[in-house]
Amino acid sequence: MYKLYLEKQEVIEIIISVLAISFALGIAFAGVGSVLNYPKEFIIFMMPLLVTVGSGFILHEMAHKLVAIYYGAKARFRMWTQGLIFMLITSAFGFLFAAPGAVYIQSAHITKKQNGIISIAGPVLNLVLMGFFFILAFTFPVIQHFTFLGHLGTKLAGFGISNGALNVWQFGVAMNLILAMFNMIPAFPLDGSKVYGWNRFIWVGAILCLLGIALLVYPPIVLSWAILLLIVLVFSKLIFG
Ligand SMILES: [Zn+2]
Repeated sequence: MYKLYLEKQEVIEIIISVLAISFALGIAFAGVGSVLNYPKEFIIFMMPLLVTVGSGFILHEMAHKLVAIYYGAKARFRMWTQGLIFMLITSAFGFLFAAPGAVYIQSAHITKKQNGIISIAGPVLNLVLMGFFFILAFTFPVIQHFTFLGHLGTKLAGFGISNGALNVWQFGVAMNLILAMFNMIPAFPLDGSKVYGWNRFIWVGAILCLLGIALLVYPPIVLSWAILLLIVLVFSKLIFG
């Protein structure tokens, strides 16, 4: 039997991480002042963030965990306190360095292939969630208005944010696409490095698929991703060699 077991401490760390990533993202989009000036509205704003990004983050991690358990490994989500604090600080400056934690895998006999499959499971889960949000955007559209998103104008229309209105499912589509694309960057310790190490053809195939979807959903993501790819590759080389 392969079942998802969660320790009590692990559940607490998951809840803190999911709340933190949603809160940090809210700050990155709305600005620090919005929490102070519109506290009630900001709490309401947390809901669509939790449903679209909080879920995207934690289901991604649980996909790694489930596949790792399937391969007979021990897997546990660990919150990364420094990463979580760093994420909250960067969000105040309008960008998100989303690293509140990750699933740690323990096993003496995990092959490169198994590690690659465990790693690709996370981004695949984000693509599935993206498809789910895409369908919801047409069948059950949800649009919410927030005063503090007004200053963004139509700059982030591709994210579903336009003149203070948040198209919740469109936002979920863009954010889960970004989660998948960011994690597929082939730099340690990101998922992409393990997929690339297992089979570079599968990595290239996955990237072409993601870039194709990005061109359809919101083309500027492709350029941002390419720039981020270069930055992360340079930093990864500097830090991990
Ligand atoms: Zn991952």
